[in-house]
Amino acid sequence: MFNKILIANRGEIALRVVRAAREMGIASVAVHSTADSDAMHVRMADESVCIGPPSSPQSYLSVPAIIAACEVTGAEAIHPGYGFLSENAGFVQVVEDHDLTFIGPTAEHIRIMGDKITAKDTMKKLGVPCVPGSEGGVASLEEAKRLGEEIGYPVIIKATAGGGGRGMKVALNADEMEKAFLTARAEGKANFGNDEVYIEKYLTTPRHIEIQVFGDGKGRAVHLGERDCSLQRRHQKVFEEAPGPVISPEERAAIGKTCADAVARINYTGAGTIEFLYENGEFYFIEMNTRLQVEHPVTEAIFGVDLVREQIRVAAGMEMSFQQEDLQINGHAIEVRINAEKLPNFAPCPGRITQYHAPGGLGVRMDSALYDGYSIPPYYDSLIGKLIVHGRDRPEALARLNRALGELIVDGVDTTVPLFHALLQEEDVLTGGYNIHWLEHWLETNLGDG
Ligand code: ADP
Repeated sequence: MFNKILIANRGEIALRVVRAAREMGIASVAVHSTADSDAMHVRMADESVCIGPPSSPQSYLSVPAIIAACEVTGAEAIHPGYGFLSENAGFVQVVEDHDLTFIGPTAEHIRIMGDKITAKDTMKKLGVPCVPGSEGGVASLEEAKRLGEEIGYPVIIKATAGGGGRGMKVALNADEMEKAFLTARAEGKANFGNDEVYIEKYLTTPRHIEIQVFGDGKGRAVHLGERDCSLQRRHQKVFEEAPGPVISPEERAAIGKTCADAVARINYTGAGTIEFLYENGEFYFIEMNTRLQVEHPVTEAIFGVDLVREQIRVAAGMEMSFQQEDLQINGHAIEVRINAEKLPNFAPCPGRITQYHAPGGLGVRMDSALYDGYSIPPYYDSLIGKLIVHGRDRPEALARLNRALGELIVDGVDTTVPLFHALLQEEDVLTGGYNIHWLEHWLETNLGDG
């Protein structure tokens, strides 16, 4: 086992990794930009290293600075968290070249899944159901139009290098194809340096269901059921739960096995998430994330496992501590993402926290790096906390969420907490009766956000 690991991230996820490491008796090294000198992850880790100025490319994305921090502190492995360098195959290669261990999959797995066309092709060959669409990249507008007719409108044009909801455009009919095609291509080029796009059937009322998988890198893999993340704003998840309110035990077992078998066959290492759209009882693969997800705690809650601990074990060459038959679902868990944003337009709202009080009690977990007097810097993601509740069933989890939100105090900045108070009044939220477009419509109607 490692003696010391470095965490190449910040905020709540850096704390999350510090906590797992500490329970395992592993020392942790935080890295930080000059804007984060007073951040909680720096205070909580055993050691810290300043790796650059506020801007992410010069700090949290600076590969030389992070490798140097390992050399200076003697850290043997790097946990990337999510975002930043977590899905950067080039980084993983550099880590390995320096005889350090990347806590995550191989550079090759990241490369395959990072390119959406290759990912889809690979998954199809591994027997995972995919959304009908173009065979590979679509080179010209003429071809796009021909495919639009063939697949049948509406279709979605996606940048193969896209992510975070960027580089995707819907064409409802042939007239909209030109604009959608050119915009998706331009966004791919501008944001990801790659203008290749592909086309998929646009599903009109799907839910977002994702399967958590975990592999040991030696051909053994398990699944930890699904998360339903259908409540989204601009393709970004805001409310996640496990198990999914509409997935039956039989469906879970079947799609779970398909996913576990697929990743076992490619000797996948560590945590991964296979994302699907789910409509009329069918699953359609959209992408695989080769890292820990923001919403992993809902899975931890219902299975009673520590996924970060497991990631560290497997990276150190140890066996997974569970097998498929050990993984039994217990109750229901919900996570809400709390952002420092001002409603109704969700404008980022950095600033000084004058008072912070985290909720507690049975079945409540607050993953946050906030503290009284902390100043949220304007340079990074606006996620400031994740509130996770666990109950014996969905109604109990919802009641607990309502209660915990009532206890939470974040003063000094605007947050998205009022959104969740409002959502918990909605019949569709209480019954789980929504699809991936529900929240957008609700926001438009209730907040005029659009
Ligand atoms: P990203 O990598 O940018 O997150 P994804 O491929 O995971 O992109 O898609 C993000 C979201 O976009 C999905 O959760 C869903 O809301 C929507 N989406 C993607 N593909 C389709 C599709 N074929 N039909 C309908 N909606 C889609």
